[in-house]
Amino acid sequence: MRPIPVLLAAALVHVSPALAQEADPAAPASTSPPKPAVQPATPPRLILAISVDQFSADLFAEYRSRYTGGLARLLSGAVFPSGFQSHAATETCPGHSTLLTGVHPARSGIIANYWFDPSTPRADKKIYCSEDERDPASTSAKPVVSSFHLKVPTLGDRLKAANKASRNVAVSAKDRAVVMMGGHAIDAGYWWRDGSFVTLPGRQIAEPAVKANADAAAAIAAGASAMPLPAWCAGKDRPIAVAGRTVGTGRFAFDAGKEGGFRNSPRMDAAVADLAIALTDQMKLGQGKAPDVLSVSFSVTDFVGHTFGTEGAEMCIQMAELDKTIGRLFDALDARGIDYAVVLSADHGGFDLPERANQQGLPEAARITPGLSDQELAKAVRAKTGITAPGDLIYSDGPFGDIYLAGTLSEADRPRALAALVETAKAHPQVEAVFTKAQLAVLPVPVGQPQDWTLIERARASFDETRSGDIVVLLKRSIQPGDGKGAVATHGSPWDYDRRVPILFWRKGLTGFEQPAPVDTVDIAPTLAALLALPVKAGEFDGRCLDIDGGAGDTCAAN
Ligand code: ZN
Repeated sequence: MRPIPVLLAAALVHVSPALAQEADPAAPASTSPPKPAVQPATPPRLILAISVDQFSADLFAEYRSRYTGGLARLLSGAVFPSGFQSHAATETCPGHSTLLTGVHPARSGIIANYWFDPSTPRADKKIYCSEDERDPASTSAKPVVSSFHLKVPTLGDRLKAANKASRNVAVSAKDRAVVMMGGHAIDAGYWWRDGSFVTLPGRQIAEPAVKANADAAAAIAAGASAMPLPAWCAGKDRPIAVAGRTVGTGRFAFDAGKEGGFRNSPRMDAAVADLAIALTDQMKLGQGKAPDVLSVSFSVTDFVGHTFGTEGAEMCIQMAELDKTIGRLFDALDARGIDYAVVLSADHGGFDLPERANQQGLPEAARITPGLSDQELAKAVRAKTGITAPGDLIYSDGPFGDIYLAGTLSEADRPRALAALVETAKAHPQVEAVFTKAQLAVLPVPVGQPQDWTLIERARASFDETRSGDIVVLLKRSIQPGDGKGAVATHGSPWDYDRRVPILFWRKGLTGFEQPAPVDTVDIAPTLAALLALPVKAGEFDGRCLDIDGGAGDTCAAN
């Protein structure tokens, strides 16, 4: 649509010919004014940034005709069904780091959930994305939660830098979602750990979270019976055997006292929404002197994907409940008269368990075969070269992604070990590509249409020279890492089932539209910055502003 300067758009609110024509001189003065779709003249008072963890573009496409609640409202806004978490390492921490920073993991520094620092004194050499390992109390298993590793500001950080009155609040079941959406200057941040909402080190648990914890404790203590199966889920309700158990027909009943049954159910998302609403009331979000940001990351779609897969009755129930929960959050903001703008996207997509995919038209879906664990790779490298290390020779967080050689290798041994590692990984029949740090370091970060990026370009968008592995291993399409005994399905691949996510915007008064052309999650922050008339220096975003008004207005015009 034609760009219109913001001031002109503001003028249109008052002199719109459409408005003049619709006004009936015979009507009584008390008649409600017509509601033309005219771009609001002032920035919203609240940005509600929602992440639905593991909400792939495929899930969105599968269920969008069923939504009647909050997701249905978003369907009336600006709909980009083909957004991309365009990088290769499609994990939660990197994905959340792109949403409100406007940069790829290559610039945010958040290359994975976990990476390795072979030079750290820590025995496991493992670093968690949202910890501060300088704190001696922090371990990779029990991290001291921090934004230390995030190299860039979030939207909330930028808003607060521009106006101290802005508040930056983030809530999720996951600490890494809170930290990566909230950033460095979080006014209130809560996540779930071991059965209750907790907050940043040194902070008090505020009254809304005290109440949320009491409510959750009561719900856990009581247990719960089966959740209803919507009639339209009946076709998904089929048992699938995987690793000695059955998935596909779950209803989220749980026994009294079982915290995991509560957490891995739609009730956890509902608790996160309740806490977001309570914090809105306590802090008067969206009703202060400057715009606020409320980030809400709903984790249960991801928990369901990992525990039950993406195509069973469990995910169908979750989609129905999530739609209701998001609707309830919108209704609460409406009831308080808050002028808010919403963005909803996801940190990554997902892929179903191969046991069901094989029955559903995808015979090539398979679980990974042995050979790529760090122990197996180390054994192969030792056999090829005779090289050993005092500790572990190889470090990695799974059978794909970043893989590291020991930091103690001599200058002579390192290139030999690297060559043997590359050769071993490339020989595995389920490996699609292996790239070395040297190959990635010389490439520019890719730009342009993310669906056309080559695999090495996707890997480059995930690459940070100081944090990335000596090699990155990418598995072939439709290969599920893991044997199904823990998680039955996961994500993290460079394939589009893990990269493609919906990006949905909504604000009262904007003209809705659907734009099927691909966009990128790094476009979200520039889009919201323009909506807020927040000045950002050229070159600070990897993404671009998306005009989210399908009418004559241009929400990017302030840029
Ligand atoms: Zn995730």
